[in-house]
This record gives sequence, structure tokens and C-alpha cells, in this order.
Amino acid sequence: MSKSPVRVQAKGAGQVTEAHNSAVGEQVPAQPRKAKKEDETPKPVKAAKPVKAVKPVKAAGPESRLAMVRRARRINRELAEVYPYAHPELDFENPFELLVATVLSAQTTDLRVNQTTPALFAKYPTPEDMAAAVPEELEQIIRPTGFFRAKARSLLGLSAALRDNFGSEVPGRLEDLVTLPGVGRKTANVVLGNAFGVPGITVDTHFGRLVRRWKWTEHEDPEKVEADIAAIFPKSEWTMLSHRIIFHGRRVCHSRKPACGACPIAPLCPSYGEGETDPEKAKKLLKYEMGGHPGQRLKPPPGFPGEPAPPLGAAE
Ligand code: SF4
Repeated sequence: MSKSPVRVQAKGAGQVTEAHNSAVGEQVPAQPRKAKKEDETPKPVKAAKPVKAVKPVKAAGPESRLAMVRRARRINRELAEVYPYAHPELDFENPFELLVATVLSAQTTDLRVNQTTPALFAKYPTPEDMAAAVPEELEQIIRPTGFFRAKARSLLGLSAALRDNFGSEVPGRLEDLVTLPGVGRKTANVVLGNAFGVPGITVDTHFGRLVRRWKWTEHEDPEKVEADIAAIFPKSEWTMLSHRIIFHGRRVCHSRKPACGACPIAPLCPSYGEGETDPEKAKKLLKYEMGGHPGQRLKPPPGFPGEPAPPLGAAE
């Protein structure tokens, strides 16, 4: 398996237009203290681009900063073509539900969280309800998400803080959100980006791994990664860029076995060859809707081309 350096100018399958991307990447203006309801957010409905086998070609020499930025933006445009339906993969109806779901998503899959939260939100629909929960009962409900005692403590603490300090409303400012128990910068950015329309970069494990593979940053520290990526892309792209990269990390560019031979952005990737390059073998590594399987959400938004995830206890 040979590694090939990145091709700076993608051609054929790797080429997309600016005009198309601008329609996909538009952000909703910030609206503090008002939830962006999923069913009010029109998503472009179009089929995912078919995956083609691609072969990177050699670059002439070391890549300049300008060339890297151009390549990064081209990757973003390409990902917008491949995942026009990219979205947060947690089911939620309001900012409180998104905040709770994001806290629960630590060290587990969004699928497991989505299978757990229907019963949780039916029993504790508001911060007051959750703050008054019997800890052992709360623990039992969230047990499938793992680390359930620590997570229950965070949920009780953040619900009480919302009730006591913020009038039972989730605040729409980063500096307020990070004062809540169990809420760090990553969780706060997820909530701001998806419940308040405030542009945010979500540096989770997938995001960090992919942007390092693409040589957009060399940093491991999430805050430094966030700063590097913020310097490459305009704010209006931050939220959708995060979704696209996380989608690609979950479906194609996996941690241990990236499906390079079935990767639509291989011509733009300096790490092509880190994973399986045989197209047929690589295709079998694709996950969720890319591999013909259900997605992670029990209630996927309109335009999602895969099947909804099964409820807790159903065959997965
Ligand atoms: S799957 Fe391979 S070619 Fe595609 S982005 Fe990941 S490392 Fe690069």
C-alpha cells in the first residue's frame, strides 16, 4: 500500500462549484434564547453523491499556506456535495434537550443517547422536573449511556443551575453555558450552533482526527485546533463544516480503518493510503447511510437518505 502526496487541484469527481456550496452552507442568524426547531429548518434534499474510486496524484513540492487554505475550502465544498443532509446526530426538540443529550453523549454513541432520551424527556421535560429527580431513578434511565452516576450528577447540577440562575432557560452565551456542571466548551458550541444559530466549531474526536490527517493543523489540544480552523474558514461555515467533518469521520474516515479506496475526497487528502485503498474492500467499511444502514437518529430531519435508527432494545 503506497502513500501519495496530495493533489492541489482536484479534477473530475473532486470538482464542485462555489455557487452550489453557498446554498448548503448558509447559517441561520443568531437568535438568543430562541430554539431553532428542526422541522422549521429547510434542508436541501438531494441524493448523496455516489462514491467513486479515485487515485491521488503527486504534488510538485511542499504545500504553501495559501495552497493548504484553498485545498481545505475545496474539501469543505466537496463534503457539502457528499453530505448535503449533514446535521447534528442527536435527537432534540429544544435547547434543554440538546444540552442534556450532548452531556449524555460523552464516551458513547449518539445512537445510544437517542435511544435513551425519549424515556428521559418524557419523565423530566423541564429543568425543574429534572432538578427534582430522585437520583437513583435518573441513573436507571440514563444507564445505557454509560458513566451514568457521573452523568446523573451533571444533569442534576445543570438542571438546578438553569432553574436557579437562568430562569429555567438555557442561556445562549458561551460564557454562561460553561458555568453549568458537566458543560465544557465543546458541549457549549454544540448547543450554540444547533439550538441558537450561533456559529461554532465542534472539535470532537472525529473532527480532530480528520483535520490532522488533512494537515489543516498539527495541534492535539482542542482549543488550538479550533483556533487554527477558525483562521481557515469564515464564521458562516463553522457549524455546517463541523457537521460535515463529523459525518465523514463516522462514515468513511474512521479512526483505525479509514476507507480511502471509497473516499470521495481522496484526491485532496495528504493521508490517502492510511487505510484500505482497494475500492471493493473499502466500500465494505462504510457506515450508516453510506453503507446502506440506518442512521443514528430515531427522528432524522427531512432529506436524510438513510433509515431512522431503531429504538432501544430493537435489533440493531
Ligand atoms: S478516508 Fe483516507 S483518503 Fe479519505 S479523508 Fe480519510 S485518510 Fe484521507
